[in-house]
Amino acid sequence: MKRSSIRHCFLVAILVSTIALVLFGIIIIELTKIGFFDNTSTTTASLNQDESQEIGTIEDNPPTIKLSGNDLVKVDDINNYVEPGFSAEDDIDGNLTDSVQTELIQENNYNYQVEYSVTDSAGNITTKTRDVRVIIGVVCLTFDDGPSKEITPQILDILEEKNVNATFFINGYSKDKEEIVKRADEEGNVIAMHGYCHEYSQIYTDINALMNNFYKLEKQIEATIGKDSKIIRFPGGTSNTISQEYCPGIMTTAVQRVTDEGYLYVDWNIDSNDAGSDANNSDAIFANVTKGLKPGRTNVVLMHDRAEKQATANALPGIIDYCLNNGYDIQVLTPETPVKSSQHHPNN
Ligand SMILES: [Zn+2]
Repeated sequence: MKRSSIRHCFLVAILVSTIALVLFGIIIIELTKIGFFDNTSTTTASLNQDESQEIGTIEDNPPTIKLSGNDLVKVDDINNYVEPGFSAEDDIDGNLTDSVQTELIQENNYNYQVEYSVTDSAGNITTKTRDVRVIIGVVCLTFDDGPSKEITPQILDILEEKNVNATFFINGYSKDKEEIVKRADEEGNVIAMHGYCHEYSQIYTDINALMNNFYKLEKQIEATIGKDSKIIRFPGGTSNTISQEYCPGIMTTAVQRVTDEGYLYVDWNIDSNDAGSDANNSDAIFANVTKGLKPGRTNVVLMHDRAEKQATANALPGIIDYCLNNGYDIQVLTPETPVKSSQHHPNN
């Protein structure tokens, strides 16, 4: 063999060894990445059949529980609760539905939780809960005279946080308040009509002025949220007597007219008095509302979200908590809501 050939072979050998070393290095890095050298993996790899089955029981995926139906179930009596169903799965043990234990936990006279728990063969425990509420009455929170930049967003924040909705009887609004109206609607609240203008001397002059005041607002609402608005509250309420100064008999005519045209007029059966002597007293507002609640009816609560109604916003979280802890379901007004007990009789 020539000397140059030997050197050639030697160089090839070095090249091949270098490539092998690099490949080995890459393999080691990849194995490290996938955790091949972690304690459990190396142990498992070196175990015989029996031992590796035992290792199988230290898998750390807990079972999963799936609840059918809603996370919150409302009943008129806790004895009428019907379990909507559940299932449990485990990646090793398979279907564990039959092993699920359920327990009814009472929080207070009206609020319960069903707790579901299941344990897999490795000892992993999974629990899930479902709320059950006993409902004795309905509350519709309503806010008049908004939207305002000062108070309405605060009220929307509170409603969102408490996961409930309200009905806003609004007046005509400037362009910079469109976003508030949109937000209220998008978050599940109802935009209802109080009339474009609130000036008694302008809207109660005759029935056409009053109706046009609703039509004008209905158009504006439709342009903002793309929905018509068929629920109304007359400024001052149906029983107001101030309209008499401008047009005797107008409220009697108005009640008939709006009903004929497919609108539902709603007054209130609980006055928070936040437009009266308790305007700046959130404790009094809270007391006025909670003392007025009655089971077995739609409790329609009158509140206001004008710019100066900070006390109302301050009272609202407590009012909502009280309702939810005392058997009252908080709902928005719809054309189907039974509102007879909240409708006032015309006094003019
Ligand atoms: Zn008003």
